[in-house]
Amino acid sequence: MKCIFCEIIAGRERASVIYSDERVLALMTLHPSQPGECMVIPKQHIDHFTDLPDDLAAHLVVVAQKIGRKMRQGYSPKRVGMVVHGFGVPHAHLLLVAQHNPDDITSGRFARIVGEKVVYDLAGIRVPPREELDRHAALLSIAEEPNQSPQPARQTGG
Ligand SMILES: [Zn+2]
Repeated sequence: MKCIFCEIIAGRERASVIYSDERVLALMTLHPSQPGECMVIPKQHIDHFTDLPDDLAAHLVVVAQKIGRKMRQGYSPKRVGMVVHGFGVPHAHLLLVAQHNPDDITSGRFARIVGEKVVYDLAGIRVPPREELDRHAALLSIAEEPNQSPQPARQTGG
């Protein structure tokens, strides 16, 4: 079965990209519970976040922090929530949510009443048009921000 995130990383599927480097990709989610909701994923296919090597996990969090700062500027949420819930796509992803209310991270927006039951799914979530997602991606872009923790200089041999 194809991994949609790996397809995006390979350039075979469209995405609204916020940031990309050799190890991670940050992109807008397709079903945002709040405007600006996005995620940071490793470019290597690793199912569980808990299986990421330390340096890769740290890099994901640092990139998410930088985007989170842009999120605070752009959306003025009370908090920037980060969550790894692991469901959806079996490729590790760290979600960032602009939280205006305490339940925005658990998102009551996923809940709806069907018959006499509360159901949690995507049916009540609006899918924004691509242009809108692209605008959010531009707003959250950290490409021009100076790198605060440069990677160690590579050994040149010799
Ligand atoms: Zn994958």
